[in-house]
Amino acid sequence: MSIAGSTVVVPRGLAEVVDLLASATPTIVCAGGTDLVPRLRNGELPATRLALCGSLPELKRIAVEGDTLVIGAAATYDELATSPEVARHVPSLPRLVSTLANPRVRSRGTIGGHVCSARPRYDVMTLLVALDARARVESGHGRRAVAVSSFVLGERRTVLEPDEVLTALQLPIPPPGMAVDFERIGTSQGPVVNVAAILGPQGCSVVIGAVQPRTIIIGAGEALTGDIGTVAARAAAAAVSDNHVLASPEYRSAMAGVLTTRLLTRMTGTGGAR
Ligand SMILES: Cc1cc2nc3c(=O)[nH]c(=O)nc-3n(C[C@H](O)[C@H](O)[C@H](O)COP(=O)(O)OP(=O)(O)OC[C@H]3O[C@@H](n4cnc5c(N)ncnc54)[C@H](O)[C@@H]3O)c2cc1C
Repeated sequence: MSIAGSTVVVPRGLAEVVDLLASATPTIVCAGGTDLVPRLRNGELPATRLALCGSLPELKRIAVEGDTLVIGAAATYDELATSPEVARHVPSLPRLVSTLANPRVRSRGTIGGHVCSARPRYDVMTLLVALDARARVESGHGRRAVAVSSFVLGERRTVLEPDEVLTALQLPIPPPGMAVDFERIGTSQGPVVNVAAILGPQGCSVVIGAVQPRTIIIGAGEALTGDIGTVAARAAAAAVSDNHVLASPEYRSAMAGVLTTRLLTRMTGTGGAR
């Protein structure tokens, strides 16, 4: 079988994926293919060997382990939108993914493919960073966990080595009294800007996405405690770029402030549904 001139291998399990990635034949993981296949078709990437991982049960598992929600890298947006575990512990995630992109992307696109494709114009990453998620990675050399906030190095660049596969995302379950939520403005082609906030007794931190190649975090470690207007002004000031995709940099920055105000007003007003 081949896709866009690339040979396709369907591994039977994660161990075989790891072997394929470690072999002398260059191999890359293909999950839903919504990002990768168009790039192969238009020649942006050279033909290669693809390890089709989108159906591997080991990479699709969604489960609670202690105080952590573990989401397999090959879980699709539709699977996240209908998972009772996700709805129970991080309801902002199904709310976001159930309206993302279009039905085809939601049925095929995976959370692992989202994180590994390292695009600045994405939504889910922003929420994952606010949740302080970690990425579980495996290769023939062993396993490691990387903070999602450090996973992307720049446009189309991540910390993954060529022989590593992302196996799961680990989301700490917000404790009672802590709220996490998300706002975006954009189109079906992607966000203009998005904002996620985590709010607890100590204050809040705000994550802004779709502005720069990496998410912008304000208030991490220091917990923002000023009024909503002050936090929103900080968000607008931090959302600086020369990014003209879908909107001007000035509009993007202004909207970062507007979304921050809307989000924090809702979260503080409701007492914060997670
Ligand atoms: C029309 C359209 C609109 C969209 N709109 C939005 C939007 O509004 N908001 C938004 O957030 N996103 C949006 N997206 C992006 C979408 O979220 C991603 O395309 C999707 O999540 C990628 O997942 P995938 O499984 O298809 O990845 P693939 O295409 O299979 O892979 C993408 C990249 O990740 C690598 N990869 C995949 N899985 C792994 C793994 N487990 N380990 C290591 N490497 C891996 C691949 O090698 C490849 O480099 C849109 C996409 C499209 C096509």
